[in-house]
Amino acid sequence: MAIRNILKIGNPILRQKSEEVPLNEIRSKEIKDLVKDMFDSMKAANGIGLAAPQIGVLKQVVIVGYEPTNRYPNVKFDREYDGIKYRVFINPKIEYLTQETMGFWEGCLSVPGMRGYVERPKRIRITFYDMEEEFHDEIIEGFEAIVVQHECDHLDGILYVDRLKDTKLFGFDEEFEKAKQYPPIKV
Ligand code: ZN
Repeated sequence: MAIRNILKIGNPILRQKSEEVPLNEIRSKEIKDLVKDMFDSMKAANGIGLAAPQIGVLKQVVIVGYEPTNRYPNVKFDREYDGIKYRVFINPKIEYLTQETMGFWEGCLSVPGMRGYVERPKRIRITFYDMEEEFHDEIIEGFEAIVVQHECDHLDGILYVDRLKDTKLFGFDEEFEKAKQYPPIKV
């Protein structure tokens, strides 16, 4: 087990594009170790998603998943937000299936302590490989679609702060919390 250091905004690696994992390397020890380190690092930081560049590896590997936690204490979760299955997405490609958006107060382990309001398409099609080199083509919607889009953005060097609707809706979690100023989310 290795908990790796998570890079923070300002580190130029977070602004670079990640490379595809060659198919014949998906089942390699290198990728297995990378994914294991990513899960260890994400869980240690109490995150719900992590992309390889966040631990300094410019490869197209993303993980998501969480059990119900207190990470979003201000948000009243519907049942569907009670958790997300732990999953690995290798070489993910996203296609937007709707113009309809869903808004959420996003956070990022690379922008610690802060939150910002972002709206993203509600429903996406995603193709990717899993760790067994199986190809998947799926439709994902709702909160999981938001998390997956956030993580896949990291592979293009994009952070959620680049997608803020309004910079006034961005700040330290602690301050919003104190002021009780979280505007309602759009679902
Ligand atoms: Zn992030």
